[in-house]
Amino acid sequence: MAETKIPRATAKRLPIYYRYLNILLDADKKRVSSTELSEAVKVDSATIRRDFSYFGALGKRGYGYDVEKLLAFFKKILNQDTLTNVALIGVGNLGHALLNFNFHKNSNVRISAAFDVNEAIANTVQSGVPVYPMTELKKQLIEQQIEIAILTVPTTAVQHITDELVDANVKGIMNFTPLRISVPDTVRVQNVDLTNELQTLIYFIEHYGEQLGDH
Ligand code: ATP
Repeated sequence: MAETKIPRATAKRLPIYYRYLNILLDADKKRVSSTELSEAVKVDSATIRRDFSYFGALGKRGYGYDVEKLLAFFKKILNQDTLTNVALIGVGNLGHALLNFNFHKNSNVRISAAFDVNEAIANTVQSGVPVYPMTELKKQLIEQQIEIAILTVPTTAVQHITDELVDANVKGIMNFTPLRISVPDTVRVQNVDLTNELQTLIYFIEHYGEQLGDH
């Protein structure tokens, strides 16, 4: 949100809070204390209180937080009440898996267009999502007002495609390749390197196996 500059770590926890608050709402719970929330989402209660204070959502002592109010609040912050269309570039193994997954449990985001250079897959529909040839990238993104793109292409192609995305006014890129891409300041990149994540996990298990904690 433009008006509230919140720390990245806080922003990352918001969807976790949001998901749990929805569970509480479904269970007809009207209020929740930061201690209860803390146990459920495994974030210490001081952090939760600090996170919430960024939004001016202050709980009342002895009462806790109003579930419905908090939810309405987070819904706005997380843009849960508007549908965000996302593009996926590269319909290979990982791209296919993401198309299939298509963020079903979170109905406000969906991959609405996919792109691939491979002529055998372009102009087909995969998991209900149209796949366009790369030549249509800019046109489709602009027409469909897509500002977010997921990159599941080989590393050799990723920078070139990134430049095309920037040219098509994309604001955010989720990069699944291990290559760090260059973008102007106006574009935000989220890197998701699955191999790296797994290797980090293995490293921690091997080196700190006896003292696992919140690292
Ligand atoms: P993954 O890495 O997702 O497991 P894969 O091993 O099936 O995929 P890759 O070679 O990594 O295949 O390519 C992923 C997809 O990206 C393929 O469908 C490929 O056709 C597509 N692709 C390759 N180069 C480009 C490009 N320049 N522009 C768009 N798509 C591309």
